[in-house]
Amino acid sequence: MSHIFPRNSRAAPPMVARGDGVYLIDTDGKRYLDGSGGAAVSCLGHGDPQVTAAIKAQLDRVAFAHTGFFTSDPAERLADMLIDHAPAGLDRVYLVSGGSEAMEAALKLARQYFIEIGQPTRHRVIARRQSYHGNTLGALATGGNMWRREPFAPLMIETTHISPCYAYRGRAEGESDWDYGQRVANELEAEIARLGPDTVMAFVAEPVVGATLGAVPPVEGYFKRIREICDTHGILLILDEVMCGMGRTGTLFACDQDGVVPDITAIAKGLGAGYQPIGAMLCTAKIHDAIADGSGFFQHGHTYLGHPVAAAAALAVLTRLTEGGLADRARVMGERLQSALEAAFGQHPHVGDIRGRGMFRGMEFVEDRETKRPFDPARKVSARLKAAAFEAGLICYPMGGTIDGRQGDHVLLAPPFILEDAHIDEIVDKLGTALARAI
Ligand code: PLP
Repeated sequence: MSHIFPRNSRAAPPMVARGDGVYLIDTDGKRYLDGSGGAAVSCLGHGDPQVTAAIKAQLDRVAFAHTGFFTSDPAERLADMLIDHAPAGLDRVYLVSGGSEAMEAALKLARQYFIEIGQPTRHRVIARRQSYHGNTLGALATGGNMWRREPFAPLMIETTHISPCYAYRGRAEGESDWDYGQRVANELEAEIARLGPDTVMAFVAEPVVGATLGAVPPVEGYFKRIREICDTHGILLILDEVMCGMGRTGTLFACDQDGVVPDITAIAKGLGAGYQPIGAMLCTAKIHDAIADGSGFFQHGHTYLGHPVAAAAALAVLTRLTEGGLADRARVMGERLQSALEAAFGQHPHVGDIRGRGMFRGMEFVEDRETKRPFDPARKVSARLKAAAFEAGLICYPMGGTIDGRQGDHVLLAPPFILEDAHIDEIVDKLGTALARAI
């Protein structure tokens, strides 16, 4: 009997033995193509020699030194490199251990910023329905995944939610993408007015929505309008790039493709690529300086801030993504993956939409393509699809979430950027087998 407290008490997963490029291999020798990089984590695949060498070298120097006493060379170099590649305006880096921690830090930084600049009434957060920002209480409250939030609702900070930018379901008949984007962005302005502008501190969104919607990019102009509204009302824009950042969508920061710069952003997952647990919050000099020149102390922190070994791993990952050209490769191979999925499943009677950017792709399943009617939740289509794909030797990330009260099913594909054409064929082939079994 295992003494691990599992997340799913009814599952008995196989034991992983080793990783080999885009594959994970269990103790029975079965190989699984890691088509979702776990949950969009393993952007370099498994067993990258440069990253493991960097970790070993740092361990030989020093494993840990508390940031209350020391900074470290890998943390400093990682921060420099992140800022070199971040959208112009982002200037400071706060290194944490994962995505939820990065989002929690972002929320607390926003709140403290407004206290420091003499606007203490600003405490409310506006986010979007069908979003996920992490599982710690602040991040969970911000997310708009009602199923995940519900049991913990009494413990949560005040957050309200507007519509996501989800053209497949949200765009009205005859409405242009542009008009649709402006319409849903303007919901933010209405919500700010309803709450009272001087009570709102931040708007939070994922540039490309990951787990809850399945790789849904915004339409053109949406985020520029969001940025405008935030500026008009003095509200901070926090972009959560935990899943879609670090090259996943074909640029190092996903928001670069939408022409906006956030005030604060959170990254994780691909930053450590699974080699170490690490995340980061980046913010503008204006926010940093308000605290530096004010109280001088950010009232937030964790023991493992700026962990040297995690930072050394992330530095090696970032070097592979930038100097090694892997973020560009994600764009090129991701387009090939999209074409292959469209060729194989574009006419499938139960595939409603195939979408995404770079190596971040989603397929939404429907009972009826014409009406976009989702499957009955009791059929558990995405869970069955995950199981059938796993059986066939393919890892993909499923979600059966609520679509504004209705149920929907999708699968997320987020393979390592080292993917070759033969792997794309294998993904399509195994997904086809899984689809035939699950639906
Ligand atoms: N934000 C987004 C968009 C995510 O997808 C996730 C995790 O899936 C998180 C935050 C939380 O990250 P973590 O699980 O590393 O705490």
